[in-house]
Amino acid sequence: MAVIIDGKKVANEVTENIKQKTSELKQKPKLAVIIVGENPASQIYVRNKQKKAEYVGFNSVVISLPVDISEENLLEQIYILNEDKNINAILIQLPLPENINKQRILEAIDPIKDVDGFTSYNFGKLALGYKPYVYPCTPKGILYLLDEYNIPIDGKKVLVIGRSNIVGKPISFMLQNRNATVTMANSHTKNLKEISLSSEIIISAVGKPNFITSEYISDGSVIIDVGINRTTDGLIGDVDYNSVFDKTSYITPVPGGVGPMTIAMLMQNTFELFQLQQSLII
Ligand code: NAP
Repeated sequence: MAVIIDGKKVANEVTENIKQKTSELKQKPKLAVIIVGENPASQIYVRNKQKKAEYVGFNSVVISLPVDISEENLLEQIYILNEDKNINAILIQLPLPENINKQRILEAIDPIKDVDGFTSYNFGKLALGYKPYVYPCTPKGILYLLDEYNIPIDGKKVLVIGRSNIVGKPISFMLQNRNATVTMANSHTKNLKEISLSSEIIISAVGKPNFITSEYISDGSVIIDVGINRTTDGLIGDVDYNSVFDKTSYITPVPGGVGPMTIAMLMQNTFELFQLQQSLII
């Protein structure tokens, strides 16, 4: 019988804890979010992040920029936030418009304010097994859930499906740093079913509804479904939840699994960067 990993509950515990700690602070952490254009999904994500920041007692600012902003002007906005002593954390909502060089923009964030951990400075440290200022939110949330449910990682065979810079790649490094044996799959991978059947933990970050069915799952496996797919039936994950449920030992639902943890970890990262910056003020 599978245990449902209740990401919503764990995320609530994390945010309540941050809220409590923030209430004890004189000066409050401040998160800045930059959004370019009017992508409806991005607008929802940004609104949710801002609402959560307000809930835990942070200050926050959302900077909405037109879709046709030049790269130079966008960089200028980031430099202003980098210099602003009142801003502790900077998040650039992705995706950016096609004509903007995402790498150049993300790299412009001061690593000590890089709340997503996407700069090469922080990502490089993570990949090398050193401690970055903060870990990327979604992978950090996944590890938090595995730890919270006492699911062992050391020595486990883990399959990560998807190699994005925001989920697949960082979680694969973080798992290796925790002594897992990690296989990474992408759209060119052959024999995915075979690899999946021999894996003890499967983390799917693909973005295809019901992509993983019971044929991919061995008895007792742990399933972490990162996918968020908007369908006419509402939000669903990459994993065909009902078909795999009885075979798994632990499974994250969609919604209510990894998603709420991502935003909770964003709050956690903002808090950690604030503390770090405070500790550097002499
Ligand atoms: P992404 O950039 O959308 O890329 C998808 C990845 O899946 C790519 O690496 C792709 O391989 C791989 N893929 C596609 N078809 C495949 C196949 N048949 N077999 C194996 N791999 C395949 O990835 P992402 O940004 O990580 O997003 C993935 C999903 O997670 C989306 O649904 C997104 O909305 C969701 N997400 C959720 C959260 C959360 O908080 N819950 C956070 C971030 C993302 P190639 O590289 O070869 O193209």
